[in-house]
Amino acid sequence: MDFSLNEEQKMMIATVRRFIAEELKPLEDEIENQGFLAQEKAQAVHEKAKALGLYAMNMPAELGGGGLSNLDRILCEEQFGHTTDILIRRAFGNVYEPLLHCKGEQVARWLKPAVEGRRTCAITITESGAGSDAAGIKTHARRNEDGTWTLNGSKHFISDGEWSDFFLVSAKTGEKEISMFMVDKGLPGFTVGKDQKMMGIRGTPHLELFFDNVPLEPVALLGEQGQGFKLAMGALNVVRLAQVGARAVGKASHVCELMVEYANDRKQFGQKIGDFQLVQQMLADSVIEINAARWMVYQAAWMLDQGFDAREQIAMVKVHAAETLGRVVDRAVQVFGGMGFCKELPIERYYRDARIYRIFDGTSEIHRTVIAKSALKKGAALFDLNR
Ligand SMILES: Cc1cc2nc3c(=O)[nH]c(=O)nc-3n(C[C@H](O)[C@H](O)[C@H](O)COP(=O)(O)OP(=O)(O)OC[C@H]3O[C@@H](n4cnc5c(N)ncnc54)[C@H](O)[C@@H]3O)c2cc1C
Repeated sequence: MDFSLNEEQKMMIATVRRFIAEELKPLEDEIENQGFLAQEKAQAVHEKAKALGLYAMNMPAELGGGGLSNLDRILCEEQFGHTTDILIRRAFGNVYEPLLHCKGEQVARWLKPAVEGRRTCAITITESGAGSDAAGIKTHARRNEDGTWTLNGSKHFISDGEWSDFFLVSAKTGEKEISMFMVDKGLPGFTVGKDQKMMGIRGTPHLELFFDNVPLEPVALLGEQGQGFKLAMGALNVVRLAQVGARAVGKASHVCELMVEYANDRKQFGQKIGDFQLVQQMLADSVIEINAARWMVYQAAWMLDQGFDAREQIAMVKVHAAETLGRVVDRAVQVFGGMGFCKELPIERYYRDARIYRIFDGTSEIHRTVIAKSALKKGAALFDLNR
């Protein structure tokens, strides 16, 4: 068992880290204050990141992506956690794995432009009446005699909807059948609703979408008819590990670093607050939990690279990394005292931004349910390597 990183991995991490520190961090306050990222700044960071080979690193090299293994991707995603969501999207891309099911004409229309950063894509599963129960959607597509489809329904909370050129839309195509479609913005009957303002991750729009008899060509169907749910859930597994698990570890590390610096610097009662044992406990618990979460993330990525089914491990990562982040940012506010609550420092922003990690991509409750069901079925095999 070798836990060390090789030289290439260390260089890759250093490159991403430097890019974030030099190009992205300086934009964060402006996004936070004005609530959006200006188009020309988005374009500039996109071009710079692309020139360095940092765009769509999760996509295969033959398509123009970075061709990274799951573990290498995770190492980068952990660094992405050091900055804010909208900057990650524009600089590094958010090319969803289900797109890899594109075939024939679909590759040139949707997959390649997404990998090359010419077109942006959002994933749309959630509806106002169907969140955790992703199979309970009402949006449906009816197949016409000529093979075309007619899409009706609505979605909400769709991240990056404003910047997206097309959408991966889950829709019922039968009583108990869900399929996935690629739906271009601008199609007749497709309208974009309001931006649903959120507690955190300012700058990333979250939109309502409405489909009123939207005509779809046969080629808009991604994968096989009726395979949409499986396809989305399977591919979203790695998204969950990368965009939630690894980024939560990165964000918690970033916050913990600031907490340690502050504890070393701030003096009360004539001594550093880091000398007080009650403050030390907050630091120690944060360090322990971050390290545990990181190795869970790496192990799950390694399992994916070895071709193992890592769904249960990823459910555990999702819960543990998201909740670790929550506890770490909460302690950070406490260690910073009033300055942790004050908008002059980014700590209060990290606190707000962290809260969503326990909700999106499956709530902690849903993942705990999955884990418990597996434990009840498989017993020790789920937590004891020797079984
Ligand atoms: C900022 C943000 C960005 C998002 N981005 C996207 C996106 O890009 N695309 C997309 O499709 N969706 C997106 N979502 C939606 C997100 O995935 C859902 O909000 C999430 O899945 C939870 O669904 P819900 O909000 O409807 O909550 P509900 O499902 O209504 O859950 C409410 C509460 O009930 C609990 N609960 C529900 N069912 C059970 C159960 N069986 N057992 C125990 N407890 C249960 C939940 O855990 C939760 O505590 C986003 C949401 C937000 C807030």
